[in-house]
Amino acid sequence: MNYIDETIKKLNAKYANQPEFIQAVTEVLESLRPVIEPNQEAYKRDAVLERLIEPDRQIIFRVPWIDRDGNAHVNTGYRVQFNNAIGPYKGGLRLHPSVNISIIKFLGFEQIFKNSLTGLPIGGAKGGSDFDPKGKTDREIMSFCKNFMLELYKYIGADTDVPAGDIGTGAREIGYMFGTYKRIKSLHEGVLTGKGLSYGGSLARTEATGYGLLYLTEEMLKCNGIEVKGKTAIVSGSGNVATYAIEKAQQLGIKVLTCSDSNGWVYDPDGIDIAALKEIKEVNRQRLTEYKKYRPNSEYHEGRGVWTVKADIALPCATQNELNLEDAKALVANGCIAVAEGANMPTTADAVKYLQDNNILLAPAKAANAGGVATSALEMSQNSERLNWTFEEVDSKLRSIMINIFHNMDDAAKKYGMEKNYVAGANIAGFEKVLNAMMAQGVC
Ligand code: NDP
Repeated sequence: MNYIDETIKKLNAKYANQPEFIQAVTEVLESLRPVIEPNQEAYKRDAVLERLIEPDRQIIFRVPWIDRDGNAHVNTGYRVQFNNAIGPYKGGLRLHPSVNISIIKFLGFEQIFKNSLTGLPIGGAKGGSDFDPKGKTDREIMSFCKNFMLELYKYIGADTDVPAGDIGTGAREIGYMFGTYKRIKSLHEGVLTGKGLSYGGSLARTEATGYGLLYLTEEMLKCNGIEVKGKTAIVSGSGNVATYAIEKAQQLGIKVLTCSDSNGWVYDPDGIDIAALKEIKEVNRQRLTEYKKYRPNSEYHEGRGVWTVKADIALPCATQNELNLEDAKALVANGCIAVAEGANMPTTADAVKYLQDNNILLAPAKAANAGGVATSALEMSQNSERLNWTFEEVDSKLRSIMINIFHNMDDAAKKYGMEKNYVAGANIAGFEKVLNAMMAQGVC
């Protein structure tokens, strides 16, 4: 049997209860056929794919914490260290009630290729907990983060594994975790990224994922003969990625019509008011229902609906599988020209196929949102040097990295006869470097 088919079959049998992980691995393996199949006997002998899809280690632990009334609660903590062939493990920590081992494994697996695509020496990992930070007091968050780090500290370090933020983990949570790590180890080192500027953080890290998404989108459109200025965009989410994607889109002359949270979505025909959005989400930590108070002309709708709005560019920036086949059909019917994924795996497999079959330019997450982890790696460099770079310096490195990522995936797609298939191009370009390192290091 063909090596890739055999691997996918075994994966389905062994991890039937991990659907997100199966979805992510299947997508990558399917697009690696032109790389693997010509040499499949040699790769099979060295169990390359089995070693790639089985994490180096998976750490699962209990996280007790105390609420405002003195009651104790217990959540589950995770860290999956997937692959460190090209550098120390690197990947975010997600705090959301939906977190489970399948989600952490899918994110960790994707992270291997994303980190490789940045061109920087970082391996793939992911972690988090099913803890829900929403509605918690600062003290409750502190209690959780401290107890989370009381276990996690054993497995991480500036040259071993460097976690960062993700959904539910922002500067506040990173600060509490860093404080605990420093206290236990008596060590002020760059063990986490996304830190505050006063204790080792990097300028432009907050903006990096959203800005990077737009730098790559601009380059992709430019290389397809399309100017972004004057275009319209629809964005989902209203967290870190969405906010700075909207900000950079507006700076590039794109009118952004929507944003959303897990309860509902906003349509603003005059373009999203970024100052209002930041005040609602970053300062007051409120829901999007508040937006109408700032912009009476806007509409608030309960539930989902962003993808039904007519626009040139769609930027899913909330969560996995948020853009399904029906949504893809609506985008195509409305004349959308490009989808660039800010969130991780936001587009379902059938929606990806439909978009590609209808010639929509699709920039996959592992390329399009790599600006966050790339800037985290720049934060690691600054920590090692004990220097701080200016905003402009970091932003300009970020822009070059995103432009390079686009060309790497574009070149890989062309090399294997799949021009404009950026999903395949990103998987292949990310994989080739990791494969090279794994082969050089022997079976281990
Ligand atoms: P945030 O927590 O800052 O924001 C997440 C946003 O998505 C919020 O608006 C949230 O709404 C919404 N959301 C979360 N879960 C759901 C859901 N199940 N259904 C609908 N909406 C939902 O996270 P980030 O902006 O940091 O991350 C967004 C995505 O980008 C994630 O996929 C993440 O993995 C990815 N990413 C983030 C990077 C970063 O640097 N931050 C780097 C690379 C990828 P609500 O507030 O109601 O929960």
